[in-house]
Amino acid sequence: MVDIYIRGGWIITMDRERRIIKNGAVAIEDGFIIDVGKREKLDNEYKVYADILINAERDIVLPGLINTHVHLAQGLLRACADYLSLIDWLKDRVWPLQGNYTSHEALASAKLVALEMIKSGTTTFLETGLVGRYGLDEIIEAIYSTGLRAAIARHVMDLKGYATKENILHEGLVEPGDYSFKDTIRLIYRYHGWDNKIWVWFGPRTPGAVSLELYREISAKARELNTGITMHLAEVREDVEYTIRNFGKKPVEFAHWLGLTGRNVVLVHVVWVEDDEIKLLSETETNVSHNPSSNMKLASGVARVSDMLSQGVNVTLGTDGGPSNNTYDLIREMKHAALLQPLRTLNPKAIRAEDVLEMATIRGARALMIDHLVGSIEKGKRADIIIVDYWQPHLHPLNNPVSHLVYVASGHDVKHSIIDGKLVMFNRRVLTLNEEEVIEEAERAAISLYERAGVCINPDLRWPIE
Ligand SMILES: [Zn+2]
Repeated sequence: MVDIYIRGGWIITMDRERRIIKNGAVAIEDGFIIDVGKREKLDNEYKVYADILINAERDIVLPGLINTHVHLAQGLLRACADYLSLIDWLKDRVWPLQGNYTSHEALASAKLVALEMIKSGTTTFLETGLVGRYGLDEIIEAIYSTGLRAAIARHVMDLKGYATKENILHEGLVEPGDYSFKDTIRLIYRYHGWDNKIWVWFGPRTPGAVSLELYREISAKARELNTGITMHLAEVREDVEYTIRNFGKKPVEFAHWLGLTGRNVVLVHVVWVEDDEIKLLSETETNVSHNPSSNMKLASGVARVSDMLSQGVNVTLGTDGGPSNNTYDLIREMKHAALLQPLRTLNPKAIRAEDVLEMATIRGARALMIDHLVGSIEKGKRADIIIVDYWQPHLHPLNNPVSHLVYVASGHDVKHSIIDGKLVMFNRRVLTLNEEEVIEEAERAAISLYERAGVCINPDLRWPIE
């Protein structure tokens, strides 16, 4: 018996040989990919036995996308923080809003983001840092029930600053002493490895909000508990000034000094780094999450992605959040990643569509330490697969499906999504969430949040609304 048989279309496997199979087929059973190959060969074996037969003759079939930098609690903050650079963006808008969340509103935000991610082809993501006031357990359980696979980091902190003395974290986000550290450990014991779908990571806040001792404790504990660490690093120039002024170290040196490098670490943004820091990232096999839209919008700078890739750094792709992107559509993010490197280097060959698709799939899986499970369409892996409808004018002529996915497609082109061998979206209808309810709830929650925080009550729009 076969649970799902996907038949026809272009299969972009992302396997070791990076095979692309024209007129291919994929067979799925008990959550696993049990076969992938040419349709004429697989048809005899699986066609009649399949519970669900998906005709993909006019589709592109590829591994589910992996978004390595997501803020679930920023879903309600879309368009609340435009036209600002990072520090004002945090102090005046993002922190006051996030520091006023009730757990009910944070859950509404998380569900909205989950819904958007499923609808735009993401099947696995890395959440950067939840805090207690959002209602961590409820959010983790809600994410599990959406069918998404996720590594969910909990923020850890014991100081209140960010980069300079004047930037004090909003009181609503401050957590006492080592509470955040202990609560992360509690969550790891409770949820880490849940059905190979949910993992709990440490999410230390940026330098200024965490003491050196606590950073070292996080590093040791993450290794002991076999989990990951993710942290924003070297996002803006102020980050570099901070670590140099206070510790005489460049950001990556600072991270390495405290044990925050290695295969279980995903550093986010990593914009302002020098050659020797890139070398250190490569030598320590530290993963990087590149978030081009966020870097452009906040005027943070351009990450040296093509240099990092050529030096052997595992660079992955993330969208960042509602007030920095302002979408969680990783397909659109691929285009920005592909366009930004030629602009930065004035070299049209700086990066290829294939490199970008690797960043959004197999490299993301490696960063999350789950490349043995997902990231490619291969026999024996869990079936996380998305199907993109190419029978649309903007995707023709279909002479190069990888180029089209990166430069042309958007999340709206994703037709079906399968996670862990289960259909999560069919014909653009999400089966694990009530779309109407999620959207209505998000609208209600946003209004009450804006009023309580006193931020984002009126739209930042130059034109009058009648
Ligand atoms: Zn971020």
